[in-house]
Parts: sequence; structure tokens; C-alpha cells
Amino acid sequence: MSTEHDLSLDALSAKGVRQIAITWDNNAGESLVKVVPLRRLQLAIDVGVGFSPISDAFRSDGIIDPAHRLTRPDGDLRLKADPKSLAVLEPDKGWAWAAGERWNRSGEPYGADQRHFCRRMGEKLDAAGLSLTAGFELEWVVVSPDSDGSPKAVISGGPYGADRLIEGLDYASALLEALDAADVDWIQFHPEYGPSQFELSFAAEAPLHVADQLIRARLVIQRVTRRFGWYSSFSAKPRLDWVGNGGHLHFSVWDAQGPLLQDGPGAYGLRPEGEALIAGMLEQLPALVALASPSPVSYLRLVPSSWSAPFQVWGMENREAAIRLIPTAVDQSAAHLEIKAVDPTANPYLLLGALQAQVLDALSHQRSLPAEQTGDPALVSDHNIARLPASLDEARMALEQDVVLHEAMGPLMHGSFLDSLAAEIHRMEHFSAEQQVGERCWWPIVGGIV
Ligand code: GLU
Ligand code: MG
Repeated sequence: MSTEHDLSLDALSAKGVRQIAITWDNNAGESLVKVVPLRRLQLAIDVGVGFSPISDAFRSDGIIDPAHRLTRPDGDLRLKADPKSLAVLEPDKGWAWAAGERWNRSGEPYGADQRHFCRRMGEKLDAAGLSLTAGFELEWVVVSPDSDGSPKAVISGGPYGADRLIEGLDYASALLEALDAADVDWIQFHPEYGPSQFELSFAAEAPLHVADQLIRARLVIQRVTRRFGWYSSFSAKPRLDWVGNGGHLHFSVWDAQGPLLQDGPGAYGLRPEGEALIAGMLEQLPALVALASPSPVSYLRLVPSSWSAPFQVWGMENREAAIRLIPTAVDQSAAHLEIKAVDPTANPYLLLGALQAQVLDALSHQRSLPAEQTGDPALVSDHNIARLPASLDEARMALEQDVVLHEAMGPLMHGSFLDSLAAEIHRMEHFSAEQQVGERCWWPIVGGIV
């Protein structure tokens, strides 16, 4: 199923690669990087390059949070390039890319490394006889600064519009060519609903591979957009008066009998295991939201009736239900679940690690499936419909109390991520919604544009 690459040094050299960008994603969702020449790649794979653990105490504006438990000058980690993740990035200019994982100098994996967490949870699923594939939809806006410094749309045309595709055809052509050159397995591209907004979706794959692709795709999008003199904002809410950018997450789970969400006796063909999966994920969703929507700005997006699905309910093909069941498609892809309470500022390794931990928990308990939700929960006069966390503070509290994720992440990663969320909350607590949006609107450019 997975198409993990294992490019040899010779193959990279034959493609004209001269240097490799090794990235890892910190608690704030930022991709940090060290670059090595091809001749030192093997060393970067075997021994790694140095990186201070303090980088997880960076806030989303790049400032080191003084109250964070990792804010200390001592210690060093080795960032090792994972050879299985190697891929070309911009071959014309000699660039390749690899995902990095941080190890202790003693040779043990670093317990708070986000990608290692994702790998570890995959191995646990495997050992339980389960497999999971996931795919993201990535939305972003193409913008430039207006006279007041806020993002301004630069490509005209309507929602899902062929007019926008034609207005931006040079951009779209360059982008899709660059994604292909970087071996990103995209399956669909379209102009999205919001002004100058686009979306790319990815094939369902094993979690590590999916997270790697998402990071590489984001770098390629940022790069191509800059070639046109514009900026790509992946902020959850680039402007208060625009719809948000989502990073919807689709996933399906198999056991020895096959896919859990189809070919069973339950509603829509659900197997009992599929019902337990939905019920368990639904119950655990508030804590997952802290990882999926990790900024105060995320909650300006996560509001009713905007297809970000902030209600803690499930529904068959219901785009306002936090868990949307999508039956087997005409193209025979497996029935799967979609969580929309995810935005592109999430660290995909942390999120997919946590998702896998919750799936394991969901399948080890007998929970009964709650009634499904039809229609928009916001328009139903039943006030008992639970909302997902409505602020980062609420989501952080849910994560703090979550025993499953505490256990799966381990105390250092769980605590250090909670510290990072506290830093984001603290940083924005006296800002108006408009100021909060302004603080994050050029993300992933940390600190905004100069
Ligand atoms: N832009 C919407 C969001 O914030 C999603 C639109 C859609 O693809 O359904 O998630
Ligand atoms: Mg979309």
C-alpha cells in the first residue's frame, strides 16, 4: 500500500541532487530545517546533525517561551534523515528532501520526537493486527499584502470556478508541475470556495508517508507561490471576513477480516468494529482537537455552518458532523471517516500519532454507537448537541485530562505540547479576533513577512 521511497545516493546524484533539506516539525507546527550536501547524507542518516531540544519551545511567532519546560540551554539531539522518506524537492536546482527524526546522543530515540511518535503508534497498530491509511485535504489562499498589511486576494474567480483556474492557469500549471517533480502523490486540485483559495488532496497512504508528503507539498506550494511574487497562507483563518483553510483528515482502518466500515450487518454496512471505531473516536475527539486545531485562530475557523464541523456528532455524508462517514465510493475506495476539525497549522506527525493511539483505544472498548445526526446541528433546536472545544483553552484542558494520549505520547511529549499550547493561548489572550488573525495570517512564515 505504502509507496515509501528508498532512493540510493547514486540515484539522487543521477537526478542532479546536490543538497538535502532535512526537516522536522516542532510543537508549533513549524518545519525546521538543516541542509547537508549529498556527500554527507549517509552521515546524516547514520549519525544525524545536531539540534537543540529547545526548538519545541518556539512559539508560532518564533519566540522562545520562557515558561516552557524545554526552555533550557543544555542538551543536544541528533536529527537523523530517514532514508525511506528521501524524495526530490526541486530537482532543477539540485534539491532533495528528507524527513528527520530526533535521537538522543546515547542512540535511543528521543521520547518527545513527533515523527517517532507517529512511527511508534503505527507499530502498535500493526502489532494489534490493524492497519490504517489516511489522507489530507490541504487548503490555502494565494495572497499579497494590502496597503494595510492584511492579505489581499491575487487570483480572481468564483468558488470552485473554472474562471479562477483560467485566471490562475500559469500558477496552477507551475504548481502541479513542481508537485509532480517532487513526487507528491496528489489526486485532486481545485479552486476552493473562498477568494483566491485552492485545495489539493492526497492519496490515502500509511500515516508517516502521508505526513511526509503533506510537509513536502507545503514547501513546494510556498516555493511556487513565491516564484509568482505572491504568498501562500495556510492559516486556519487568513482574514476574519473569509472562510477558513481546512486540513480535513480522512482515514480508514482494516483488521484481518478487512475494512471495518463496510460489509457488516449494521447501518450503512458498518461492522460492530466499525461502530466501536466511530463511537470511540467521537468520545475522544475533544482531546484530538487540541492537536488538530492548535492555535487560538483555529477556533475562529471552527464555527457552525462553515463546513468545519464543530459538533461532536457523526453523520452519514454530513458535512457539519465532526465525524462524517463516507461509504464505499463508486471508485471502490474503502468506506472511511472524515474529521474536519483539522487545519493546516497542525503538526501532522503529532496528529496522526494521536489518531492511531485513539483508534487502538476505540477498538479495545465496547462503546455503543450514538444516534446519527442528519442536517446542520446548528439549525436543530436541540440544545443538547455537544460542541467540540470552542477555544484552544478548552481543547488544551481536554488534552490535559486525556489518559489515552498522556500514556501514548509519554509525559515529556504530552507535557511539552501542553506548554506549547499554553504559550499560544497566553500570547493571544488580550488580542481581538482581528489581531489574532493578523498575527497568524502569513503562516507558515514564522514572524510574518518583512
Ligand atoms: N474551507 C472549509 C474549512 O475551513 C472547508 C470547505 C470544504 O472543503 O468543505 O474547512
Ligand atoms: Mg475543501
